[in-house]
Amino acid sequence: MLIEFGARLLHWAALPAVLLATPSLLSIFAFVAARTHATNDQPRAQWIEYRSWDRIIQIMLLVVWWLLWDFRGPLSIVIPFNGAKDSTTLFDSGAPAFWYLPVSAIFLYLVVSSYLGTAILRRKRGIGLRISHAIGRIVSFAAPLILLEAGIDELLKRNAWGFLYFAGAAAAWRIGAIVALFAVGFRLNSLKSGETLGRARRIAHQMGVKLRHVFMVPAGRGRLTNAYSMGDAIAVTDSLGQHLTRDQLEFTIAHEVAHCQRKHGRTTVRSGLLIFGVSAAVLFAIGPQAGPMRIPLQILGLLTPVAAAEWISRRNEYEADRVAVEFTKEPESAIRALGNLSCAADAPMRPNPIADVFEGHPCLLYRVRAIAHAGRLSQERLSDILREAQIIEAES
Ligand SMILES: [Zn+2]
Repeated sequence: MLIEFGARLLHWAALPAVLLATPSLLSIFAFVAARTHATNDQPRAQWIEYRSWDRIIQIMLLVVWWLLWDFRGPLSIVIPFNGAKDSTTLFDSGAPAFWYLPVSAIFLYLVVSSYLGTAILRRKRGIGLRISHAIGRIVSFAAPLILLEAGIDELLKRNAWGFLYFAGAAAAWRIGAIVALFAVGFRLNSLKSGETLGRARRIAHQMGVKLRHVFMVPAGRGRLTNAYSMGDAIAVTDSLGQHLTRDQLEFTIAHEVAHCQRKHGRTTVRSGLLIFGVSAAVLFAIGPQAGPMRIPLQILGLLTPVAAAEWISRRNEYEADRVAVEFTKEPESAIRALGNLSCAADAPMRPNPIADVFEGHPCLLYRVRAIAHAGRLSQERLSDILREAQIIEAES
């Protein structure tokens, strides 16, 4: 009885503490390392650079956790597993830990890095906003990954429940992004009149798109500065005018209208269903025959659909940029618009070849290069604009 109680206490206290420490230490360590090896004193740029590893840190944590769970060696000391040895369904005893431990670890990591980030960027943020921001990001990234992990485990056992987890992951992927936006104060006000509505309607009309709605999003507590497209509607934050000139605004709206014109919302959903569906079917077909290939298969099965879905999203961004520049015929304004938006969002400017695989937007440098190419700007001119706009210093 006492031993059982002790084991439970360990289960509920010691292990979470160990796990929670990992990502926080990781983030502090990486931050300190980035600062020590700095050749210049630009903590802001270094922080943004470090933040570009954010999703990789989460993926690593989730993969390590998953493998530990599957090969319960070290965990069996602290977690009393009473359930069937090779089962990880939601209904097993001990199984809730499969969900709440990594989620709470990532939650702590996100909150800690939010505090570090605002200290470095000299921003102020309330605790409520930090928490909702972290929750939004978990719902849109970590949660779909954990669902995929559970699904892969089931599919490799030829358990059809795995398909349900995959469907859940695909849905969370899509809905999570929307939840993440609303968590940081995203609100939609349909425009009935005004300059922005007039401009959006004119651009849409000229691009052959019928917009059902044009929304204004209050920048609010989340300090949003962005534009969005949803089906046959677009949304812009009311803070855009502070960061963009008229020509830059023209490109930004044309980019969103281009998403509507090319029906990117619909293709994202369809390709997502296809990618997640095919991955699940392949894993189910392989099933227990995976043998010694199980671990590589698990990791591949987790990362491939995620990378493929984000690749499609990046391809859509390049296409929307190209269509918008073909419309405005102002590649220079387009480059400056993207530079200003990246700056306002503290987004990384330079590529991160590993982390960018899991990002839905291409890095700024690749986007402006593609725009320069589409708009027939020379490499020298591009370098000049970037230097002038202080987007990427000494880029050549
Ligand atoms: Zn876009």
